[in-house]
Amino acid sequence: MDLRDKNILVVGLARTGVAVARFLASRGARVTVTDMKGEAELATHVQALNNLGIIWELGRHDKATFLDADLIVVSPGVPMDHPLLLKAKAAGVEIVSEIELAGRFIQAPLVAITGTNGKTTTTTLAGEIFRANGFATYVGGNIGDPLIELAESGEQVERVVAEISSFQLEWIISFRPQVAALLNLSEDHLDRYATYQGYIDAKLRIFENQDASDFAVVNADDPLVWGHAQGLKARLFPFSRKRELEEGIFHRDGVIRFRHGGREELFPTEGFRLQGVHNLENIMAALACALLLGCRPDESFAAVRGFEALHHRMEFVREVNGVAYYEDSKATNVGSVEKALESFAEITLIAGGKDKGGTYAPLAPLVAERVRHLILIGEAAGRMQAELGALTDTCRAATLEEAVRLAAEITRPGGTVLMSPACSSFDMFRDYEERAKRFIAAVKGL
Ligand code: ADP
Repeated sequence: MDLRDKNILVVGLARTGVAVARFLASRGARVTVTDMKGEAELATHVQALNNLGIIWELGRHDKATFLDADLIVVSPGVPMDHPLLLKAKAAGVEIVSEIELAGRFIQAPLVAITGTNGKTTTTTLAGEIFRANGFATYVGGNIGDPLIELAESGEQVERVVAEISSFQLEWIISFRPQVAALLNLSEDHLDRYATYQGYIDAKLRIFENQDASDFAVVNADDPLVWGHAQGLKARLFPFSRKRELEEGIFHRDGVIRFRHGGREELFPTEGFRLQGVHNLENIMAALACALLLGCRPDESFAAVRGFEALHHRMEFVREVNGVAYYEDSKATNVGSVEKALESFAEITLIAGGKDKGGTYAPLAPLVAERVRHLILIGEAAGRMQAELGALTDTCRAATLEEAVRLAAEITRPGGTVLMSPACSSFDMFRDYEERAKRFIAAVKGL
């Protein structure tokens, strides 16, 4: 793909937009960057692109620029139904996402991992397994470094492992992973998609360009995933915690079994540091991706055994007066909170934050069974109280710190205080990491 002297418009200037603009400029394109935020707010990003001859349209979008572009590259934060994107599309302008562009310049075999939850854990682990097998491996995408940075650096790697969000899949055309994994599906991002099906359809596009020489690693225990997996063009490679598979990877009696083309490899799970049933799924998916792309069982097993849980995902903070405190700030949707609630018994749950428009109803049975006290914070508190409040002792707190103090007062010894919000953090915090730090500080201050 020749980019020289092409008029290319980058829409959205955050981490990805910066990387895309730099890549395009390095290839000799005429790059315009547009964002509705103004120059003052975007100062650090603008600074990062200094001296590259970029044309700026900040604080506004110009219709003519959209319509005159040879190519538009859309950042993941920009909604797909943005009126100017729709107009440009109707006018025949090619519109792509960053992963589509990057995919056209990356030669190494690509593993792409998506799903509502577990993407970061699975992607990171798969990357570790490839590295333990001696492959020069680039890990990035929706976590850490955008794929386009690999394209820009021209670094020669042997494997690429990418975490892929539904937003990044919205504008793909030929993006084609050799191995694509779909971990699970549950409601999320309904502030961005008109319907749940719209979100699911975006996720399924990860398989769209695969053919029978590629693999689709799919969760056979998730009815929605399994239903949608039937009829894919790629070879299905299921994983399951619940049933034995002739071809696939499954867990039985403390052993993960990988079966492929008549070969079987065994991985006893005792001593794994990554705990919890959801992590068993993540481990099986990561192992499948790695073993299907040339990894050896022994090295892979050692990598899994040595892998520790990532921060802010059901992380133990400390015990005070016989009460354990866990921080699960990365749980920003109902599916991840379900897994957290399944992991404990006498729970004081601190939840709430920025509402994403889905329903909290799937939590009802677990709240009724295991949550003794529910403390709600943030914008979503009212909706959560309406949907879950009648099921247990429920109150509201104005701040996270107040919620922690309250939790400490009402939780009996032997219980667990769990912050697992089911919401994003942007109403009260910069991001989920700041929310985590504030919780940890409050708990340490008890
Ligand atoms: P993602 O990148 O998809 O957000 P993470 O690995 O960062 O996934 O985990 C996000 C949240 O989801 C955490 O609360 C974690 O405990 C939970 N989680 C991790 N893996 C799974 C899974 N396979 N199913 C459900 N929840 C999960």
